[in-house]
This record gives sequence, C-alpha cells and structure tokens, in this order.
Amino acid sequence: SMLEKFERYPLTFGPTPIEPLPRLSEALGGKVEIYAKREDCNSGLAMGGNKLRKLEYIVPDALASGADTLVSIGGVQSNHTRMVAATAAKLGMKCVVIQEKWVPHFDAVYDRVGNIQMTRLMGADSRLVDDGFDIGIRKSWEDAIQSVKDDGGKPYAIPAGASVHKFGALGYVGFAEEVAQQEKELGFTFDYVIVCVVTGSTQGGMIVGFAAQDRASRVIGIDASGTLEQTRAQVRGIVDKTAELVGLGREVREDEIVINPDYAYPAYGVPSDETNDAIRLAARTEAMITDPVYEGKSMQGLIDLTRKGFFPDGARVLYAHLGGAPALNGYSYHYKDG
Ligand code: PLP
Repeated sequence: SMLEKFERYPLTFGPTPIEPLPRLSEALGGKVEIYAKREDCNSGLAMGGNKLRKLEYIVPDALASGADTLVSIGGVQSNHTRMVAATAAKLGMKCVVIQEKWVPHFDAVYDRVGNIQMTRLMGADSRLVDDGFDIGIRKSWEDAIQSVKDDGGKPYAIPAGASVHKFGALGYVGFAEEVAQQEKELGFTFDYVIVCVVTGSTQGGMIVGFAAQDRASRVIGIDASGTLEQTRAQVRGIVDKTAELVGLGREVREDEIVINPDYAYPAYGVPSDETNDAIRLAARTEAMITDPVYEGKSMQGLIDLTRKGFFPDGARVLYAHLGGAPALNGYSYHYKDG
C-alpha cells in the first residue's frame, strides 16, 4: 500500500460494502451492470459519509498539534461540518463550524434539520454567516480560527470538504486500493467508477490511487459545484500534491482527470427536475437514498450516461455513494408528493 507510511486514526467500520444494483441496472436497459460502494454506510459516527475516510488521515495530525478545537467551514446543510463535529465529539475536542449561505433555500426548516441539527446535537458551536458558495479558503474561516485563539483555545483548521489539506486526499487513495482488493474477492474488475465532485479530494484521491493501477481515466467525476474551472483546478492541485506525497513516481496526465459538468445545473445545492427523478429512481428500485446536492446529481449522471450508451454493453460500473442523505430533510418541499 502507498499509505503504509501514514498514520490513520480509525473513524470508520473498515472496508465499505460493494453491492449490486440489479433493479436499477434493469430499469436502465439491463445492458450495464451497476454496483454501489457504500461510503454512506461507512461509520457509526452521525450517519457517516466520505469525510470520515478523509478525516482518518487528518486526525493524527490534529492530535499531534495539541489542538483542543477543530475548526471548519461549509454550507448550512454541510455534510462535512457534521462529520467534523462528529469527529470532535468522538475525540473529546471542541468544535467551531462556520456555516455559509451556499444555497438559496425555501424550506422553512432548512437551517434547523438534517446536518445542522446533528451538528448542534453533537455540541459544535455552529455559526451561521451570510457568505455565498465558494470552495476556496474563506475569510470567515480565518476569523473563526482567530476567535478560538482569542478565547485562549488551540484551533486545528480543516478546510471545506477536508480537501485543501496536505492529508485530505489520502483516504480516497485508500479507496482505490480497497476496490482492487475487493475485486480480487469478487473475481472481476470494474470498468468505470462514478463519483460526485465538489471540493475535490474525494475524486483527487481516487485519481492518484487508480493511477497507480493505470486506470485513473475510468474515474468519471460528476461535477455538482457548477463552478467547473475552479473545481478542476482544485482537483489538479490536490492530485499533484498527493501524488508527490504518496510517491506515485510519475505525473498524472490531464486526460486522467475526467470531470463531467453536465449535471450541476441549475446551481450548487439546487436539484433540477432530472436530479429529483434520479433520486426517485434509485429510491424506488434499490431503496438507495441519495440527496439533492451531491449524490442525486452523480446518480443523474450515472443514469443519463447509461441511457445514452456511454458505457459499452456488459460494462461494470461502480457508483461511489458518498453519503449526504441527511440534507434531504432540508428539501422536503421538493418531495411532498413523493
Ligand atoms: N457527496 C457528498 C455527500 C458530500 O458531502 C460531498 C462533499 O463535498 C461530496 C459528495 C463531494 O466530495 P468532495 O468535496 O471531496 O469533492
């Protein structure tokens, strides 16, 4: 493993299950075999999700720093800040999270249910601010770090999505190694991986991990940010730093970074009718629950690409389900009628 030299603090149950999705495959014409790797079921901490796989490699650094407070940032319905709050609670640390107005919302309970509700229950100091969507480093985040210092605390800063952090992508390098191990047990290999991308370290880590197996270009990122150039640049930067860090031994080529922008419309955090149809189809065929911000969009991409014949007949496609279902509670108005 490329990860042997890195310390890992376990927050997850271990390797996540891969399950076939036969009814979804059939509903899409039956020519492609669709599977899901259930990152959404990866932990007992506050309903789990992709951030915990990343945080496993960040926590040792946080502990070594002597910090007493984890500080992070996300939207009001951020899965990431929920996972940071969960990690802090589990470690017995304090937590400050800045929650920005990344999404125009209409649901009366949007800022009280789902992710933010759990974040508050776990004791995090959740601070709502007015700034809009941006995956970069924010002033409000720097202000939060300073406020912890001003109160005599020792902050450990985790950027949005745990992405632009030196160890942020290691967890998903591990995902690629885990898939290779599971393929041995299954007796076949996957031809494509579908993964949602926003802040970049999930796909970025996968790209480095699968580049070591010479199949990074088969990782299809489905952009949900709606800011493709910025996301692609962030993935590129994460890939380069992570490749160097793990000793990949070569540069990752541009054609090994595949991001499809076609499903992010109308905007980050806002589902299209097609997103909602995708959410319904996965729910009705497989009881697999996806959310309107992230996984609903990658599900929409998976469905549309399959219907369009993008995958050759007989292809095995692995959908990485990264979590996010708690946000559904903040979008109840979309699903009043199912
Ligand atoms: N899916 C879910 C459920 C998420 O919470 C996130 C977080 O941003 C993503 C996908 C995108 O992952 P990343 O930010 O690493 O690109």
